[in-house]
Amino acid sequence: MAARNDALATVKQWVAEATNVVVLTGAGISAESGVPTFRGWTPDDGDDAPLWSKFRPEELATPEAFAQDPTMVWEWYDWRRGLIAGTQPNAGHAALVDLERRVDRFALVTQNVDGHHTLAGSRNVLHLHGDIWLLRCVDCGREIEDRRHPLPELPPTCSDCGGLLRPGVVWFGEGLPVDILERSFLLAAECDLMLVVGTSAVVYPAAGVALQAIEAGVTVIEVNPETTPLSAHMTACLTGPAGVVLPELLAP
Ligand code: NAD
Ligand code: ZN
Repeated sequence: MAARNDALATVKQWVAEATNVVVLTGAGISAESGVPTFRGWTPDDGDDAPLWSKFRPEELATPEAFAQDPTMVWEWYDWRRGLIAGTQPNAGHAALVDLERRVDRFALVTQNVDGHHTLAGSRNVLHLHGDIWLLRCVDCGREIEDRRHPLPELPPTCSDCGGLLRPGVVWFGEGLPVDILERSFLLAAECDLMLVVGTSAVVYPAAGVALQAIEAGVTVIEVNPETTPLSAHMTACLTGPAGVVLPELLAP
């Protein structure tokens, strides 16, 4: 344990001295809230299981699945929306709110769609993969926020044009919002400290934001109970759950 505590003391010092911080988060930061990550999901073969549960998230969160069976994809999202609504941001989210208050320049780049960073009180949040509470019309592009769960009608339709509404998230195989991605890469290259929290660092281009900081010579710290493909390139790795490690990092 000594080695880990040494690293923690050093990283605490770096955090205390940093003035321009970027944090990249993934599903892992919401794991302790009770929002499941995609990793480790096993399809349910039971007779009573809903149809969507027989597929992997990587098969459901795609434009192809939505084109083929929008109702099934929506049933999965409706279930996820209800699940997220029943959870709260955790101590990890709260620590990042605290960090934002302490430093001059701060940006939180998240792959998460659950909205928990904003709910916790983080202000400068860049959503790389969209927001599960937004619905977007596939025909006219109209975007609305709808936090109801369950939704009264599946699939939901556009009140303007009658078109199909889809979840306002980025699916596997789709492009990320270019402006947000470009800003994230720029911030990553310019910051003096980056924290990479709860991301498996295998989903690109999101993982590229961390890589950008590494290549720019930024001090990059990983917070994750497990190693990732980027662990070996990190300045330091703090091994543990975000809800424990992040508050420790900011404790006096
Ligand atoms: P991911 O690729 O971000 O991987 C999850 C990572 O979190 C893993 O590396 C795991 O070791 C780590 N982790 C688990 N528990 C942790 C904890 N307590 N503290 C810190 N790290 C922890 O996510 P994924 O599940 O493979 O999903 C892929 C895509 O889907 C990403 O865009 C992801 O953000 C999105 N997604 C979002 C949510 C959400 O909004 N909460 C949930 C599931 C998936
Ligand atoms: Zn419409």
